[in-house]
Amino acid sequence: MNNLENKPSKNSLEAMRKFSEAYAQRTGTFFCIDSSVTAVVVEGLAKHKDKYGAPLCPCRHYNNKEAEVQATYWNCPCVPMRERKECHCMLFLLPNNEFAGDNQFISSETLLSAIEGSVA
Ligand code: SF4
Repeated sequence: MNNLENKPSKNSLEAMRKFSEAYAQRTGTFFCIDSSVTAVVVEGLAKHKDKYGAPLCPCRHYNNKEAEVQATYWNCPCVPMRERKECHCMLFLLPNNEFAGDNQFISSETLLSAIEGSVA
């Protein structure tokens, strides 16, 4: 019931899905065994991209999102991820992480059904 009207655009959702797949492959990281985790993070990135023009990390609290986007530190891939492969959102997991699956791909269908399931 929460945010049906607050859905990301299809273009941003698809852009962030493709980015996530490409970046996981480039960094040798994997998506979570629970694909709803991946879907929620990709959705959050897409919403921020729509609203603020940049995929600000969706797993943090900000007092001023516009200022954070300008600062760039938490624009995905954030500095901790780029420097140390640390993704606290659990979007990009190292293979030795206990929650890492063996997937670097998430289909549009899986993404959409996970998001719709979470809205109910
Ligand atoms: Fe992206 Fe960093 Fe947030 Fe992970 S923690 S989703 S890499 S911004």
